[in-house]
Amino acid sequence: MVATRPKKSLGQNFLVDHNAIDRIIGAAPRQPNAVVEIGPGRGALLQPLLERYAQVTAVEMDDTLAAEWRTSGHPGLQVIHADAVQPAWLEALAPGEHGVVANLPYNAATPILRLLLQYHSRFPWLVLMFQREVADRILFAGGRDGGPLGVLAQWVYRVEHVLTLGPEAFSPPPKVYSKVVKFVRLPAPLEEARVARGWPLLLRLFQRRRARLDSAIASLVKKPRDLVQAWFLELGIRSDARPDHVSPSQYLQLIDRIEAIL
Ligand code: SAM
Repeated sequence: MVATRPKKSLGQNFLVDHNAIDRIIGAAPRQPNAVVEIGPGRGALLQPLLERYAQVTAVEMDDTLAAEWRTSGHPGLQVIHADAVQPAWLEALAPGEHGVVANLPYNAATPILRLLLQYHSRFPWLVLMFQREVADRILFAGGRDGGPLGVLAQWVYRVEHVLTLGPEAFSPPPKVYSKVVKFVRLPAPLEEARVARGWPLLLRLFQRRRARLDSAIASLVKKPRDLVQAWFLELGIRSDARPDHVSPSQYLQLIDRIEAIL
């Protein structure tokens, strides 16, 4: 692998901590025997994945790295040279289910997770590294640090924290801490079409994080606040709730009611 200069624009902070690499790979279930790695970079995770799984698909946007992996001749490796934010790469993916492992580029982590959630029927589990603050929004949905991405994720996957890493685990070191999150698909995940519809609604409801949620919903559905307060009562949501006081399952029931009116 030719060590080209890391590209900041592609979030290239390569993992160099071997203990962290072992723990990330160790968190990945053995089945299915097919995984996707988004952004293999210089191969810190790709090499052990190739030893462990029969079928490995690497999705890499960097021209040089994608070309190098493509010509590496590893049996069982398929390289898709693509921007993982755009759904086109899913068409090149072999049929069937795949696990996903990625140390996600910071600038594209949110849209890439959004896409994986949208197509969750292909992905029974994900082991993903994020900037710590983004991971916390996912892990603590329904609490003070939660966010819309976490609500969406928890409609589809059970989420758990795997490990936290400091900047020294990477080369070059980023300015932030990172967290690895494991996602295991729920026995009855929300249907993909409803995941797609739910996202813009959640974004609107979280727009004013410190404002009362009943006002945001009342203006969205163009109905009096009393109606929204009646929903809150039924669903056990406190009357003065802010967007981050509501659990993923309460949001789902709220959105059912909102969609019935819209
Ligand atoms: N997996 C390697 C590791 O852990 O050392 C590299 C991780 S590095 C944080 C992110 C990788 O994602 C880089 O290889 C980068 O080129 C690639 N990348 C950045 N943006 C991408 C995108 N939109 N689609 C696909 N790959 C992307």
